[in-house]
Amino acid sequence: MLCKIGEVEVWRLLDIHGPFMTPEYLFPNAGPDVSQIIERHVAKGVCKVSDRLILPIQGFLLITPHHRILIDSCVGNGKNIPAFPDWHMRSDGRFLAALAAAGLGVADVDYVLCTHLHSDHVGWNTQLHDGRWVPTFPNARYLMPAEDESVPKVRNSDLYAESVLPVIAAGQAEFFQDGHALGECVRLIPTPGHTPGHVSVRIASMGKEAIITGDALHTAAQCWHPEWHFRFDVDAEQAVSSRRKLLETASETDCIVLGSHFALPSIGRVKALNAAFCWTDLSDI
Ligand SMILES: [Zn+2]
Repeated sequence: MLCKIGEVEVWRLLDIHGPFMTPEYLFPNAGPDVSQIIERHVAKGVCKVSDRLILPIQGFLLITPHHRILIDSCVGNGKNIPAFPDWHMRSDGRFLAALAAAGLGVADVDYVLCTHLHSDHVGWNTQLHDGRWVPTFPNARYLMPAEDESVPKVRNSDLYAESVLPVIAAGQAEFFQDGHALGECVRLIPTPGHTPGHVSVRIASMGKEAIITGDALHTAAQCWHPEWHFRFDVDAEQAVSSRRKLLETASETDCIVLGSHFALPSIGRVKALNAAFCWTDLSDI
């Protein structure tokens, strides 16, 4: 188990852990020293061999007293993603092995929540069975942001055909608007910008709180530099505004923060610092 927030167990389901792209490419307005800035703030944040940002792709499994909820289903196997060769047509058992290590099988998951509709957050929604894409989690309701689903570019994508449409066809999809809650312990926080319908997740139980960022941030270094744009933000300035608000909430509540793409261990706390914030890994607190 990664941590426990009141009565809610949080498990890490790691799908991919490795270098992604260079910081200079990923953070286009961060200036020429972006790699050094990340290295200063984040141990092992940049791969020494490739000079690329280390970007884990992980989901978080929440076991509440009433539900088993998967937050983000990562890249998955067999998906057509030629623009990202490391994600393209994968065949890997790590993600489902991590689910088994938490004591669950695919039939035990009640909800799958996709923070947004990008290919590293919807992949395990489905898997190939006899040449057809079928929902990986046969008993789950799949929650996805309505505002992402209505984007024409999304509807015309391989992502949609492989990882969303089969869930709709199986009658397991629900497209949510703002302010959605999942049982008593889990609430969605709108953090638009990376995509129009992007959400982060708040866990609250027995007086304890945590936030799962989703892609409101992509590295802990963005706590010090929330103004950094990310290459794949749909509306980068709106993302900056959402990022600042989320970091303010995290700092004010002193809650645990789980950074979906942060360098491992990806868990820590945020504190306001001058006009920005700082991050401390939980193991260093
Ligand atoms: Zn992502």
